[in-house]
Amino acid sequence: MFLRQIVTAIAVLLTLAAGGATPLAGAQAAAKRRVALVITNATVVTVDATRRILTPGALAIDGTDIVGVDTPAAIAAAFQPGQTIDGTGQIVLPGLINTHGHAPMVLFRGLGSDLNLMEWLQQYIFPAEAKSVTPAFVRTGTQLAALEMIRSGTTTFADMYYFEEEVARAASEAGLRGVLGQTIVKFPAPDAKTPEAGLARAEQFIVQWKGNALITPAVAPHALYTLDASTLKACRALADKHQVPLIIHLAETRAEIDAALTLANATPTQYLQGLGLWGPRTLAAHGVWVSPEDMTLLKAAGVAISYNPESNMKLASGTAPIVDYLAAGITVGLGTDGAASNNDLDMFEAMRFAAFLQKHAHNDPRVLPAPAVLDMATRNGAAALGLGAQVGSLEVGKRADVILVDVRGPRQTPMYDPVAHLVYSAHGDDVTTAIVNGKVLMRDRKVLTVNEAAVLADARAAAETVRAAVKK
Ligand SMILES: [Zn+2]
Repeated sequence: MFLRQIVTAIAVLLTLAAGGATPLAGAQAAAKRRVALVITNATVVTVDATRRILTPGALAIDGTDIVGVDTPAAIAAAFQPGQTIDGTGQIVLPGLINTHGHAPMVLFRGLGSDLNLMEWLQQYIFPAEAKSVTPAFVRTGTQLAALEMIRSGTTTFADMYYFEEEVARAASEAGLRGVLGQTIVKFPAPDAKTPEAGLARAEQFIVQWKGNALITPAVAPHALYTLDASTLKACRALADKHQVPLIIHLAETRAEIDAALTLANATPTQYLQGLGLWGPRTLAAHGVWVSPEDMTLLKAAGVAISYNPESNMKLASGTAPIVDYLAAGITVGLGTDGAASNNDLDMFEAMRFAAFLQKHAHNDPRVLPAPAVLDMATRNGAAALGLGAQVGSLEVGKRADVILVDVRGPRQTPMYDPVAHLVYSAHGDDVTTAIVNGKVLMRDRKVLTVNEAAVLADARAAAETVRAAVKK
């Protein structure tokens, strides 16, 4: 590496000595490909098939795509950038992928803590949702969530909520990538009085957004205990008809086992299998309470799992058998769940808890090592959402979804192992720059696509309606 730096320095001196205006230098410059952006002199953690790490490395971006990943010298020799970001003291990595959440629920952040799930839902969340969830509320909530996600390095998120078209609109305006599912439940919801109306909304949403560069529309039946068998089947049929993903909560708490036993004398996974719900492009959130037979079914159907360690710990839902899922060859992505049960959307924190919870549960510090957790938050999350060919790693030809993490602060010094740093030391606040689909959404911690002051004011105003809704 030292030798390479000397060679680079000599090359720079020779170039300077030759003078920029000579015909030779002009010819060399002309041979370079003009690109929009080069990020250079950073530690580049590619999370590609060989988990290549370049120290130092550089990345060239043009249009929506990554067009070069190499040493700074090789990138400088091949590309003429319109803009350059000096990544000295920073790690460049694929943007993080949050595979489960309910973005607008950031507006319920911290509402009713330390209660059991049913108390919390019945005393706080359900009344608050019934009285305050409108299109404007969903839009403000998503804008607030988008700010938080961009600021903490999330570039793709999966979502299930009501008025999902407002989530899609706000997310795409913010420049985020999303797999967004219109939620369907059997009781009257803020956006649909009946499940049939919910299904109709879901289809309308799919037709409206299918083919968008950033948004993948999906169908999101809430869970087996909030839907009848016929509606669950209709959700599967709708996803198949339009070839879109299906997202559902699965076996989040032990109570769901009792519900499935009552309904069909089966486990939740087997009950849903009986309805034909498992198929391709299917993401099951949580999957805490599953048997070995359930895992075999999920593997055979190609279902992916979203692991939400912080939500599972805060609500005492249980410990998902992640080590077993991975051993079974099931794709596992990482999620935060809604901010009402987390209470933030920081995927760095999710990575740390993902590892700690499994180590603690297995009484073995070797399980779920840092590289496996980083995989979950990037390439495997992308695969879980059906976006593996587009995002999740830094490779030529993939979309430019890229973040920079500052590792110069006291908490990050010294750095021996960049991956261990990302998983065990970094915080969302360490992200300085976020790029999605080639567009810079945040530069030097300033979000460029969302009016932060206006959104924070709107969010505080929206909280007043929530306060009124839950007032005793
Ligand atoms: Zn959830």
